[in-house]
Amino acid sequence: MIRLSRFRFLRQFLLGVLSLVCVLTFAACGSTPSADSGASNVLKVATEPAFPPFESQAAGGGLEGFDIDLMNAIGEAAGLTIEFESLPFDGIIPALQAGTVDAAISAMTITAERSQTVSFSRPYFKAGLAIAVRENETGLTSLDSLKGKRIAVQIGTTGAETAKQVEGAQVRTFDSAPLALQELANGNVDAVINDAPVTLYAINSGNIAGLKVADDQLLTEEFYGIALPKDSPNVEKVNTALGTIISNGKYAEIYKKWFNAAPPTLPEAAPL
Ligand code: GLN
Repeated sequence: MIRLSRFRFLRQFLLGVLSLVCVLTFAACGSTPSADSGASNVLKVATEPAFPPFESQAAGGGLEGFDIDLMNAIGEAAGLTIEFESLPFDGIIPALQAGTVDAAISAMTITAERSQTVSFSRPYFKAGLAIAVRENETGLTSLDSLKGKRIAVQIGTTGAETAKQVEGAQVRTFDSAPLALQELANGNVDAVINDAPVTLYAINSGNIAGLKVADDQLLTEEFYGIALPKDSPNVEKVNTALGTIISNGKYAEIYKKWFNAAPPTLPEAAPL
């Protein structure tokens, strides 16, 4: 009997210590990032900087691109200082969930699946997926024609999801879109499924030679959103700022700089 109660006491004691440790750990993890950002008005924003013209490493260091200009303009309108942090694309949602960053702008498509774990701003860009092939390719023009073929994609993307659905296809994943496109240029895969504006930019800027987009028709219609931790208080701030720069012409100015065109009108919410 004495042994048993000692054992019980010890067990209770250990459980108590354990839960105290848990509570303290959670308190530390949960409050530190937001308390910091709140106090200093700094918004730590993740991006994967190998996706021009949306985000890339500038020649003189630092980041550049449509997303970078847009996020800085949002910060200005919202009274927030933007601090970028480079992360692999498939590490962005986990970082938002862990609260180690406050937001992410990375040409990230608003999807129903992602919306279960993060909150998105209103759409800020209309895009879609395209198939890239080598210039002399004539047979591969649609998703259907890619059955049983070798497809390169960037890990964790909507392009990767789409490629997975092609029957019998061998899907090879890469850490960045330029690496997947290079694999195609090298002749090691038959096609790449990637965001059309990025593939077109790589081809038109001469960053990668010998490729073309298979068809003018986009495979999907996708809208990019700024991702934030689920139900973050910054969602509203970002949306208000986005609304401000869309109506005061700043958004159109940034769009013109990177796409040399007037922006299309964007829906208030992405159709999911
Ligand atoms: N828009 C695509 C997606 O969200 C690709 C994004 C990216 O590679 N940065 O999956």
